Amino acid sequence: MAQEDVFKKIVSHCKEYGFVFPSSEIYDGLGAVYDYGQNGVELKNNIKQYWWQSMVLLHDNIVGIDSAIFMHPTIWKASGHVDAFNDPLIDNRDSKKRYRADVLIEDKMGKYEEKIAKEIEKARKRFGDAFDEEKFRQTNPRVLAEQEKLNALHARYKAAMEQMDLAELRQIILDEEIVCPISGTKNWTDVRQFNLMFKTEMGSTADGAMQIYLRPETAQGIFVNYLNVQKTGRMKLPFGIAQIGKAFRNEIVARQFIFRMREFEQMEMQYFVKPGTEIEWFNQWKQWRMAWHQALGFGAENYRFHDHEKLAHYANAATDVEFHMPFGFKEVEGIHSRTNFDLSQHEKYSGKSIKYFDPESGESYTPYVIETSIGVDRMTLSVLCHSYQEEQLEGGETRVVLKFPPQLAPVKLSVMPLVRKDGLPDLAKQIVNDLKFHFNTHYDEKDSIGKRYRRQDAIGTPYCVTVDYDTLKDNTVTLRMRDTMEQRRVKISELRSIIEDTVSITSLLKKLV
Ligand code: ATP
Repeated sequence: MAQEDVFKKIVSHCKEYGFVFPSSEIYDGLGAVYDYGQNGVELKNNIKQYWWQSMVLLHDNIVGIDSAIFMHPTIWKASGHVDAFNDPLIDNRDSKKRYRADVLIEDKMGKYEEKIAKEIEKARKRFGDAFDEEKFRQTNPRVLAEQEKLNALHARYKAAMEQMDLAELRQIILDEEIVCPISGTKNWTDVRQFNLMFKTEMGSTADGAMQIYLRPETAQGIFVNYLNVQKTGRMKLPFGIAQIGKAFRNEIVARQFIFRMREFEQMEMQYFVKPGTEIEWFNQWKQWRMAWHQALGFGAENYRFHDHEKLAHYANAATDVEFHMPFGFKEVEGIHSRTNFDLSQHEKYSGKSIKYFDPESGESYTPYVIETSIGVDRMTLSVLCHSYQEEQLEGGETRVVLKFPPQLAPVKLSVMPLVRKDGLPDLAKQIVNDLKFHFNTHYDEKDSIGKRYRRQDAIGTPYCVTVDYDTLKDNTVTLRMRDTMEQRRVKISELRSIIEDTVSITSLLKKLV
């Protein structure tokens, strides 16, 4: 099945099974805004819990905060967002659709990469074990030609982005013959800058309302609380502050489900370090963050680092963690070495000294910062995409199953009485009542057992338990595993110990230490 079709199926599955709904749907929705349903919110909460605990439980020098969404407007002047939080936009005159010029060009580079990857795959099949990829890349004329085009485009794009040369970005789009995917034409407007911050007003107009912004990132809430936390927590460098919260961006293109939303959630951690040690910490955090992703078991081949083409003026290193989504490798997390830019700017704009007194050296200085910034929604999407599978079963049947890591699954156990009589429902409910304190356990009595299993597969429940007539006699139940569909008879008293460890976030955290 084409990857685009898979993605469409995932989107409709998310709606059908209570993961993600378009916001305000009965009013025909609101562009790029989504609501999480009963299963989506559990999945998202588990992801947040995994992240939060990996930061503040596993690191004794990282603490959390929860800062307000509304902030003093000068913060966004100081951070550079008022002047420079822009994306280059371009319109197609025929389809009237709007695009990000940089994304159109990056997609084109992705197409060159895909062509090269296809050639390599073909050759690998042809040569089998004797295949030497490195040599093939260096000698195959078709690969070399594509690579040359890619390198040339890459160099031109990098230069244009560094100087924010809008005319050159447009020229690249024309020269590369990039067409609008809707109209298929090259009838492009000029490229313009567009500020992504949402504005609103605070206070009534009578007393002079103040224009404020909905925060476009959670990080600034951490920077402006640096001194509060450092002093009250008596923190010593290096130390980190973590936060999970909503962020808002008036994205130009919003057509990729929960990948790019106008209201979304971020999990950010700023790690304050001594100047001069930041690259060492940057590399350490790259490694820690990759380990966090890979502990989920989705396969190392589905992740890669993508170093930034264009470093923000304040950054001295930056990379993205990309995940293999059905629509290509895409950023889920950014790791940035932000120097002392933000703290220095707030010092300048607020007039308050924001320094660290180093008891060892006796000096005062502005700490440098390593930031790890991951989108909860993008992470949720990557988990959904990787877990969604359609399986052909014996007897021509198919099933749709979400093979979530059990620790992230919304429901861990579904308990089902075989029939709705003879005391079986009461016994099943008793099991639910005992286990619900330890993990998310549901009761399900409607439809045939087969249908109930399918329903649980579709929401990714790793375990089902069936209570039948033998249960009344010997206190055993049938435990059914989602992935293998294997069934075995176990004692009710053993259920907790069999399940609890495999579904707990702790079991994921243990892989990190
Ligand atoms: P992009 O280049 O895709 O616009 P970005 O580089 O601007 O993303 P950052 O500012 O580094 O993103 O934000 C950190 C993380 O927040 C991203 O890696 C992503 O997971 C998430 N994120 C950013 N913008 C959005 C959005 N509009 N919708 C959902 N998640 C987002």
